[in-house]
Amino acid sequence: MIIDGKKVAFSVLEELKDKVKKSVKKPGLAVILANDDYSSKIYVASKEKHSVALGYKSCIYRFDSSITQGKLIELIHELNENPDINGILVQSPLYPHLDENEIIELINPKKDVDGFHPVNVGKLFAGLNPYAICCTPKGIMKLLKAYDIELEGKNALVIGRSNIVGKPIASLLTNENATVTLAHSKTKNLKEHTKKADIIVSATGHPRLITADMVKKDVVVVDVGIIRQFDGRLVGDVDFEKVKNIASYITPVPGGVGPMTIACLMENTYELFLLQNKGQI
Ligand code: NAD
Repeated sequence: MIIDGKKVAFSVLEELKDKVKKSVKKPGLAVILANDDYSSKIYVASKEKHSVALGYKSCIYRFDSSITQGKLIELIHELNENPDINGILVQSPLYPHLDENEIIELINPKKDVDGFHPVNVGKLFAGLNPYAICCTPKGIMKLLKAYDIELEGKNALVIGRSNIVGKPIASLLTNENATVTLAHSKTKNLKEHTKKADIIVSATGHPRLITADMVKKDVVVVDVGIIRQFDGRLVGDVDFEKVKNIASYITPVPGGVGPMTIACLMENTYELFLLQNKGQI
């Protein structure tokens, strides 16, 4: 079965739209774009579009390369204090002269809508309730839940160990009692691991890393990778056309994990809004 990320994301967004309509006060999301990267500009535009569609207050701060670390720090302090802003997102990467880690650590963890602040990362790792969970891993967990995919006792293989996908999804799957293996570019004989996996979450950005001969029958495959090919087409880490005949469930690229990431960003903004208004809206 093909997991329909667009459909699940749509239902998350519709539910949010209803809740926001009923609320007098509206959630506010601030996004900081301080780089020249083409994809980042597209991602930020999409975040703005979704915020506006839901009736959120959307503030986009776009900077050219003359922006200094000091000015960004000032802005973070202002946004931390601004009661109309509930979520602060710093689009990665920043211009090379800026220190992204310092900026992230200055965000109030209760406004850290991406779930990247060490407090939220630590809470996630400890199995406590983070103020916000990183959007892509949260979206993956929602997809697995929407399709009633059992996790307890299953062998889950996560490929890729980034802070934004690999490590947090490994924690979330562990918290749901899966037996998790975390593979990465230095893993030897990846096929030995993929062959044993009941669930594979691949987040490498390496096209067709996972081929049909590497997976066992009825495996659940979540493809996080997004790679734009020379002809403009988007593909993932998985050889979708062949692996889909062996898997019990599989996410397509595009239309799988991607739409869930943005839906979860919107949900995180709303949840932080509730938290900051102590449920009184
Ligand atoms: P990254 O680019 O920071 O790192 C890639 C990871 O893959 C590393 O941990 C590396 O060790 C591992 N890796 C690379 N080649 C490998 C190989 N041959 N075998 C095993 N492991 C290998 O990771 P990221 O930022 O998590 O992004 C990964 C992919 O996911 C990219 O294509 C990115 O565009 C995509 N992504 C998609 C979404 C979404 O919403 N769908 C969100 C975030 C990232």
